[in-house]
Amino acid sequence: MRAAVFHKFAGPLTVAELPDPAPPADGVVLEVGATGICRSDWHAWQGHDPGIEPPHVPGHELAGTVVAVGPEVRRLALGDRVTVPFCLGCGACTSCLAGETQVCDHDYQPGFTGPGSWAQFVALPHADLNAVALPEGLDMVAAAALGCRFMTAWAAVHVHGRVRAGEWVAVHGCGGVGLSAVIIAAAAGARVVAVDIDREKLGRARRLGAEAAVDATAGGVGAVREATGGGAHVSLDALGSAATAAASVRSLRKHGRHVQVGLMLAGDRVAPVPMARVIAFELSLHGVHGMAVRHYPELLGAVAAGVVDPTLLVGATVGLDDAGAELAAMGGFARTGATVITSF
Ligand SMILES: [Zn+2]
Ligand SMILES: [Zn+2]
Repeated sequence: MRAAVFHKFAGPLTVAELPDPAPPADGVVLEVGATGICRSDWHAWQGHDPGIEPPHVPGHELAGTVVAVGPEVRRLALGDRVTVPFCLGCGACTSCLAGETQVCDHDYQPGFTGPGSWAQFVALPHADLNAVALPEGLDMVAAAALGCRFMTAWAAVHVHGRVRAGEWVAVHGCGGVGLSAVIIAAAAGARVVAVDIDREKLGRARRLGAEAAVDATAGGVGAVREATGGGAHVSLDALGSAATAAASVRSLRKHGRHVQVGLMLAGDRVAPVPMARVIAFELSLHGVHGMAVRHYPELLGAVAAGVVDPTLLVGATVGLDDAGAELAAMGGFARTGATVITSF
């Protein structure tokens, strides 16, 4: 098969011929129909993820068609159109038995703990538990666009933030996951204030449903507190940095909920949090690590009903040969919208 592979961290990503994968006993092989290019792939390529050993094939936001099935698989058949969460549960650990597959003790993440989907084919384990059938009418690009940022934003807004209509939601960082959260929170009837240092991203957030936009170049916390009449009920750090995490906590009103959505990597792994404010305001802090596979029916139902549209975030579709250039372009913070690989 053709696959995009890097042989050293931050080195060139090239398309090579690799052996076709075989399905694990409880897994499947998908012919990849569409796969997203995400900031997490950039972190993996840069070597920020412990556990990745080059040579490595990235890619974790995927949708495809089942072309091989392991002997233990009961629920899937050749030709099924499916997607998977980026974090596949084992089905046997305490977390999985509680339905929390996204924090599985033995999770499998294509593109991180194993070869990813920037290839013609990808093998996935534990398919009966983790593969989600695509509804009729949901195409591969939309499904790939759900696969990481959009479903993580769904979990942040609905599962952890428990956002209710009429509440103020602050979204710090309007990249892919931040704009996803803007769409989802606005669709839930929340009043959204978008925070970023990039005017173009703020404009996009406004068009996707944000009621207010705050330029964070000179701080931004005061402006959020003013726009929301004393602080947001829920605030998301959708970028993932020490500065935005602290700003998100400071943006909250009493009893507010901070949700850490953006990954805290490299120098931001141990970030200072204003814990005195957490005590004084009785704030709660939540981490979100994707979404449990059991929440997919709600999300896919909302997409099918037209309540939310993940394809609004797709900026461009490209071929596998373009993946290296797209990945390299992610080093800055300039991009708006998600790029999806659709030809292999
Ligand atoms: Zn598990
Ligand atoms: Zn991703």
